[in-house]
Amino acid sequence: MSAPPRDLRRPGSAVTPELRPETSVQFVRGVGPERARALLADGIATVHDLLLVLPRRYEDRSNLAPIRTLRAGVRTTVCGRIVAVSLKRARRMPIFEAVVEDASGRIKCVFFGQAYLKESFKVGRRVVLYGAPEWDRYGGGLALHSPDSEILDDGEEAATEETAAPGIDDAIHMGRLVPVYEKRGTLLPKIWRRLLTNLIRSLPGGYGEPDLLTEDLRTALGVVGIREALVAVHDPSSDADLAAMNGARSRGHLRLILEEFFLFAVGLAAKRLDRQPGVVLRANDAARTAAKRVLPFPLTGAQKRVLKEIATDLESGREMSRLLQGDVGSGKTIVATLAMLLPVANERQAVLVAPTEVLADQHFLTLSRILAPAGVRVTRLSGRLRSKERKEALRAIAEGDAQIIVGTHALFEPDVVFKSLALAIIDEQHRFGVIQRDELRRKGEGVHALVMTATPIPRTLALSFHGDLDTSVLDEKPPGRMPIRTSHRFDSQRARIVETARQHLAQGRQVYVVCPLVEESEKLADVRAVTQLTREWGNWLPGARIAALHGRLPSEEKGAVMDSFVRGETQVLVSTTVIEVGVDVPNATLMVIEQAERFGIAQLHQLRGRVGRGRHASECLLVTRAYPGDEAKQRIDAIVASEDGFFLAEKDLEIRGPGEFFGTRQSGRGLFQAGDPVRDRELLIRARDIADAWWKTAPDAHPLRRYARSGEWTRRFGLSQVG
Ligand code: ADP
Ligand code: MG
Repeated sequence: MSAPPRDLRRPGSAVTPELRPETSVQFVRGVGPERARALLADGIATVHDLLLVLPRRYEDRSNLAPIRTLRAGVRTTVCGRIVAVSLKRARRMPIFEAVVEDASGRIKCVFFGQAYLKESFKVGRRVVLYGAPEWDRYGGGLALHSPDSEILDDGEEAATEETAAPGIDDAIHMGRLVPVYEKRGTLLPKIWRRLLTNLIRSLPGGYGEPDLLTEDLRTALGVVGIREALVAVHDPSSDADLAAMNGARSRGHLRLILEEFFLFAVGLAAKRLDRQPGVVLRANDAARTAAKRVLPFPLTGAQKRVLKEIATDLESGREMSRLLQGDVGSGKTIVATLAMLLPVANERQAVLVAPTEVLADQHFLTLSRILAPAGVRVTRLSGRLRSKERKEALRAIAEGDAQIIVGTHALFEPDVVFKSLALAIIDEQHRFGVIQRDELRRKGEGVHALVMTATPIPRTLALSFHGDLDTSVLDEKPPGRMPIRTSHRFDSQRARIVETARQHLAQGRQVYVVCPLVEESEKLADVRAVTQLTREWGNWLPGARIAALHGRLPSEEKGAVMDSFVRGETQVLVSTTVIEVGVDVPNATLMVIEQAERFGIAQLHQLRGRVGRGRHASECLLVTRAYPGDEAKQRIDAIVASEDGFFLAEKDLEIRGPGEFFGTRQSGRGLFQAGDPVRDRELLIRARDIADAWWKTAPDAHPLRRYARSGEWTRRFGLSQVG
């Protein structure tokens, strides 16, 4: 398996050190100062970083198909010489065409909008093409439309900093199972191949020893050693199984994916299983009596189970870090309310944080009402308070008069000092970062944290995002809920839409009309949009009591509008997405979403969740223009088809791809390099289970223990800090 050592000296330079994982990339053959800088900018500093740049796919170039054998619709790799090129324009779009020929025949290639190809596609050069031919619309026989292409003899390699013999290196690019890398930064796919193939072939036999995954772990995970895996992935042998390689299921891939997931999971296990000491909050008689007194309805089985999980944590002497996932309308608020009675009964404070003032106000009113019979003192702290009220609230919080505090991120301010905070609950937590969770924690000692979310993120992604948290799931809706009838309507069906609204009002119910938020840059535009829409609905529903709500209203007015809707005085609430999360008005039974094509799946699902909260049948209308666009249509169809947040989350992921979920949220690069949490979800779960078990029994001195708690782990998997 081990490649013969090569001469590692470069002309005019000192002896290159033996390559080790942590060796700087600048000592890699083919990397000069300029390329080293480019790699560094891309986060690639060491030999090992470089080796973790994996091929996107593999091509069997050992026996290429003759061009003559190309068939429509069948993806094939061919190689030939360019015999003609031309650049045309059709409706201002440049179209580059090239004819490629081998001994058996020729094929036309058409590239749309890629005029720059004329720089490298020169007559006489050899090119490898990969794609599925289609019948040419203009009767020209088969053609390849924008195939993957690789020019073999463009002289590019001669012009680089590489010290290897210039020119075509057929042994690397042809005649074998070749890895195909993605263009990344300024480096073309072919350069990556050369760089990595050469690097792999010069790795010393003992590279990667001692293996971070010790033998026991390799056995548990069922994986090969690191060096063997890297060779298999970057320099596959000719008898490698192409399908397994392309499906990322070769033994090399499995090792790299499982290693990555395992290292990730070990860090999470460290966080989850070595918890800091936490305040002990007992489910004492005081707590039980208060709970009995305030309970407005019998809890569902799921609510009881989750409360028990929380109570167990609060009593454990370790800090709780728990995620409560419950779809919209599953009844998270009452769970939070009852949980907060535990600190109160133990003479401690609890805080409930909401992402918007509308929601914070609503929670404040609900909690004050529900908890009044138990004599619990609830205080509100939001950005909306006048300075005198704020001062009074701060005093009550600091002196312990306030037992439960409800508010917005205003609670994170440094002048908010708690007398004895013991439990922090964050509602709709996808709106907050983990930083804030920790900030709240620092406002006391041994503070327990519960984050609640209805954001339908798929389970595997939840594991990656929130893997350091224990999770509870509310998977049961309160009794008596009827499904929300959801339909797609076009603007042109306005009369029918308005008629539906009229029927709901005639039954004494209330209606939401929502329009999308306009870009931040046009501050007044959404005010205009809401005002305009309110006027229109006023005309359509003469006599109905209509009010407008948007983010730019002064907060007092916002509160007043909302209160009037909650009391049932306002019948139709026209609003931007400020009501997206959490708002609970059971008498509202119709949700009309205007320009529904502009919302994402998660938002649509959240918005729809504002209705269907009471005893009455509810409806949701998604209104779009005649052609909402393909992706929007898929989103709308998904919402119409299902009310299950988890199903919708998977759909969303399917439509958008995992990149959007992890993507640019923080670092611009995905959380994982080898693994794909969607494709490899079983592996992620397997690695997590093995990591948890291992963490509980592994020897203290095992180097992975140190790694799991290190800054290196945080740097590598820092994105998991989202949430
Ligand atoms: P979410 O999980 O979306 O925050 P809420 O806590 O707002 O949901 O609850 C939705 C509605 O269901 C509220 O009106 C709440 O009072 C009601 N509810 C919650 N639990 C129950 C239950 N066990 N029985 C009856 N109604 C319930
Ligand atoms: Mg809620």
